[in-house]
Amino acid sequence: MGVPVFEISKDFVFSAAHQIRLHGGKCERLHGHNWRIRVHVRATQLNRIGMVVDFADLQRLVAEVGSRFDHQNVNEIPPFDTENTTAELLARFFYLETSARLAAAEAGRVTVSKVEVWENEGSLAVYREG
Ligand SMILES: [Zn+2]
Repeated sequence: MGVPVFEISKDFVFSAAHQIRLHGGKCERLHGHNWRIRVHVRATQLNRIGMVVDFADLQRLVAEVGSRFDHQNVNEIPPFDTENTTAELLARFFYLETSARLAAAEAGRVTVSKVEVWENEGSLAVYREG
């Protein structure tokens, strides 16, 4: 038997514009997506009422990170004024930002296991750290 791991996830959806710098194709033109961000968090020990973390608390935390992008041009929002706005780099950004907030809120009991970013229904990027 391995170590039991509990994992939950929360979605955050935002609508925004972006352009992929240096793409050389149509993605370099300004266009929009309804991005779906799915943050997966895990714990080997549940809290005192049997949760990894309250879905509402996780929703608030993910929204704190993601709401800055809603109805904006992602290319104008740091760090994406200098980084490219690919799904991969957005996934890394959400991973790092939600990890820092979760570490402060849960003292290391709960960690982000991975972040998924959909640009559309069929296009998914995943970021995790080994
Ligand atoms: Zn795009």
